[in-house]
Order: sequence, then structure tokens, then C-alpha cells
Amino acid sequence: MTDQLTDPVTRYPGGGYPEQSQDAPGLESELRPGADHGEDSYRGTGKLTGRKALVTGADSGIGRATAIAYAREGADVVLNYLPSEQSDAEEVARLVEQAGRKAVLAPADISVEEEARGLVRRAVEELGGLDLVANIAGEQQYVEDLADVTTEQFDRTFRTNVYALFWIVQEALPHLPAGATIVNTSSIQAYQPSPGLVDYASTKATINTMSKALAQQLAPKGIRVNVVAPGPFWTPLQASGGQPTEKLPEFGAETPLGRAGQPAELAGAYVYLASPESSYVTGETLNVNGGMPTP
Ligand code: NAD
Ligand code: MG
Repeated sequence: MTDQLTDPVTRYPGGGYPEQSQDAPGLESELRPGADHGEDSYRGTGKLTGRKALVTGADSGIGRATAIAYAREGADVVLNYLPSEQSDAEEVARLVEQAGRKAVLAPADISVEEEARGLVRRAVEELGGLDLVANIAGEQQYVEDLADVTTEQFDRTFRTNVYALFWIVQEALPHLPAGATIVNTSSIQAYQPSPGLVDYASTKATINTMSKALAQQLAPKGIRVNVVAPGPFWTPLQASGGQPTEKLPEFGAETPLGRAGQPAELAGAYVYLASPESSYVTGETLNVNGGMPTP
């Protein structure tokens, strides 16, 4: 079989992930087995040459795969993450620089308004402008019983997933030229919420709707807003409280393709929605979820 004819069922192993748990946010360097972010496979073709990108959650998982792809497509990238993830982020910076692009390490807790806004100001300064914002950071903690969901958790989930999006986009707007693109991150959870992810699933539905409204508002300015909605992907988020540990071995088995996705399988979606190849697409949610039907 050549690269161009790949069986999606067997491309990656299905299930068999060992039970494991880390404190949130987990580290990719401690995830077993490690995930595929396209390090050895993603080939750029200049789709984002000269673009100035801010990627949140860029240290690991989906954000890492996106940052690598953006750099290989020719973009300079500001990498945002939490301070405890410095070592993961440095690995991504190395890969971005290996692609010949500028990498800026920008730790910030985006659940805090001043840090979220400061992150955007720093990105504009370091890149000499901004024309691509990929909001990928996310907070997800599985709690079986609503009685055990603390106000603190509920608040942190909404601040990280929803408020930060508002703060980052609002702060970025005065700097975004026509042609700029915003790519947000929803989830299959927006349509098929798990009983133990009441707060998280709700934020993801909000992100879909918020993005559609923003897309309407920004279309006349030539700024497009789209969303990627992943299904189950193998990332530290899932091994640091996103799922109950006993569910990890079967993670992703419920999808028609019968396995979890790897972050590398999302890079193309984030590149497509960021690049002029999608110039007539805005307000759209692109589902990348192993075949689970969505509205
Ligand atoms: P991940 O743990 O690799 O990435 C999440 C990142 O969010 C972390 O690396 C961290 O840097 C960042 N983050 C969390 N809280 C933050 C805060 N307060 N300030 C700054 N950064 C913060 O996991 P991932 O699965 O790659 O998650 C990326 C996105 O994909 C999230 O929005 C998640 O909701 C979404 N998603 C993931 C899946 C999945 O199955 N993995 C499915 C659907 C959606
Ligand atoms: Mg991380």
C-alpha cells in the first residue's frame, strides 16, 4: 500500500491504551503510548506562507499537530500553553524552527482575562501583526455525578473554553486584516454529550454557536471564522481527567472507524480552514470524528 491509499481503520492501532492518569494539564512526554502529531509525516506545500499565527494549547495534542503543520506550511507561530507545560512547548518550538519558521514561546493562563489579552498583544508584537488565530486550548474534567461538580470547576471550564475565546478574539480584531482566519475548536460532545461532561459539552455547543454568530459579523470585513469538531483523539487531555481511567483502554472504539484518532489526522482540517483554499467557507464546523453522525 502506498501513502496515498491508506486504510483508515488500520492506519493507527485501535484501543489497547493502558490505564494511566496525570494531573491536569497532562504532559505529552508522559503519555503512554505517545501520540502522532505528524512529526514524521506532515508535508507542507506553502499554503500559509508568511502567515502570522497564534495557536493556543500548542504544546501538546491537537494544538501541537496544528503548530507543526502551520510552520511547515510557512507560518510563524506563537505557541501558547500553561507554564507547567514548558518542556512540551519547547519540543514544539524546536519542530517549528526546524521547519525554518519563527517560534515564540508564550505561556499564559487564558482563563484569566488579563493573561488572555496580554497573550494577543505579545503575539502581535513578536510577529509584527497577526492574521491567523487557532483557539485550541481546552479544559475537560470528567465528573460522574453533578453533585460533585464544583463551582470552581464549572467556572474554570467556561473561562478557558468560552470566555478566553471571547477575550482573545476581541483583543485580536483590531489587528486582523482582511483575509485573516480564526479557527475554533468544538467537539462531538456538542451533539452527543457524555453524562459526565455536563460543563465541558455545554462549552463546546457554545463555541459552535458563538463561531457562527461571529462569522456573520466578520464576513463583510473579510475575516472568516470556522470550527473543527474532533471526535475522540489520543491526547494528554484524556489521560488527565478528561475520561475515567478505566475507559482509556477502549477509548475511541465507539466510532464507526473503530479507533481513536491521532492529532496528526486533524492537522489538515486546521490548515484547510486557515488557508485561502477555504475562502468561500465561513461559519462552518468541520467534523473530524471517525464517522459519528452529526447534525
Ligand atoms: P491537550 O491536553 O493536548 O491540549 C489541551 C491544551 O489546553 C493543553 O495543552 C493546555 O496547554 C491548554 N490549556 C488548558 N487550560 C488552559 C489555560 N487555562 N490556559 C492556557 N492553556 C490552557 O488535549 P487536546 O485533546 O489536544 O485538546 C485540544 C482541544 O481539542 C481542546 O479544546 C479539547 O476540548 C478539544 N477536543 C479534544 C478531543 C479529544 O478527544 N482529545 C475531542 C474533542 C475536542
Ligand atoms: Mg498540553
